[in-house]
Amino acid sequence: MQATVKGPITFTGRGLHSGKPVRLTIRPAMAEHGIWFCRTDIENGDTMIPARYDVVHQSPLCTTLVNEAGVSVGTVEHVMAALAGCGVHNALVEIDGPEVPILDGSAVPFVRGIMHRGLRRLPARVRAFEVLKPVTVTQGDATATIAPSPVLKIEFHIDFADAAIGRQSKTLNMSNGSFARELSDSRTFCRKGDVEKMQASGLALGGTPGVNAVVFDGDHVASPGGLRHRDEPVRHKMLDALGDIALAGAPLIGHYTGVRAGHTLTNQLLRKLFATPGAVRMVTCDADMAALLPGAGLVWDEIPQVA
Ligand SMILES: [Zn+2]
Repeated sequence: MQATVKGPITFTGRGLHSGKPVRLTIRPAMAEHGIWFCRTDIENGDTMIPARYDVVHQSPLCTTLVNEAGVSVGTVEHVMAALAGCGVHNALVEIDGPEVPILDGSAVPFVRGIMHRGLRRLPARVRAFEVLKPVTVTQGDATATIAPSPVLKIEFHIDFADAAIGRQSKTLNMSNGSFARELSDSRTFCRKGDVEKMQASGLALGGTPGVNAVVFDGDHVASPGGLRHRDEPVRHKMLDALGDIALAGAPLIGHYTGVRAGHTLTNQLLRKLFATPGAVRMVTCDADMAALLPGAGLVWDEIPQVA
């Protein structure tokens, strides 16, 4: 059955790019509502923003949603990954600023908050998008592909010149709570030179190395505290991919492969998937299908604990 959260859950922190303090509250919603953001700091006009791929404004560093009135919310990918990874299908996400708080740079604070509060089942079956034929998008040496699969599988390959990152590949089946267990605590990362460039152009102002981002410099980790996983970068790319895929608007059943892909390419992939006749269909999940969706089988004790 579809699920929402049992009650409101509030998170406070700063936006990664704006550096501004922000308060975000995930509230319960009824069946078939889907995930919506609401800007509570804006008094007039349309403050509701759907968590959907077709309102994504292209930005290379994060995923920003913009409604028809021009009201936006940025850096939605980690909270979207947490909602999808916990199996939350319906929620209203209130936010009093333009950017989701970065917290520790991963999705695990959202996952722990959601699962501590618990989920409520709703009287409607889960509907999901089943991929029927492969679709690929390419940009330079990056590609993103979605292909038929009985379960959501995320495969990612990265290749960075920095020796401390290098080549990393990983594939995970997103059932049995694997998102929370394997991916949710992997943090945003960047290269030292990029931090300086971003901050010079007014970005990443809320970034604190070692607190909410891992910083790499050539052959070593430049931020304090080291890594949470030896292959934390590729795991974070998979986390981002789940958050961006969640913008399909319902669970997506297919095999996603990202090669050096980013937010923009994954969004282009969803746009192409839904624009390609016969590539995807909506299905109502029976119990066997629902048991394979992200979030099913998630166990509290398996959620990583971080300081
Ligand atoms: Zn990210």
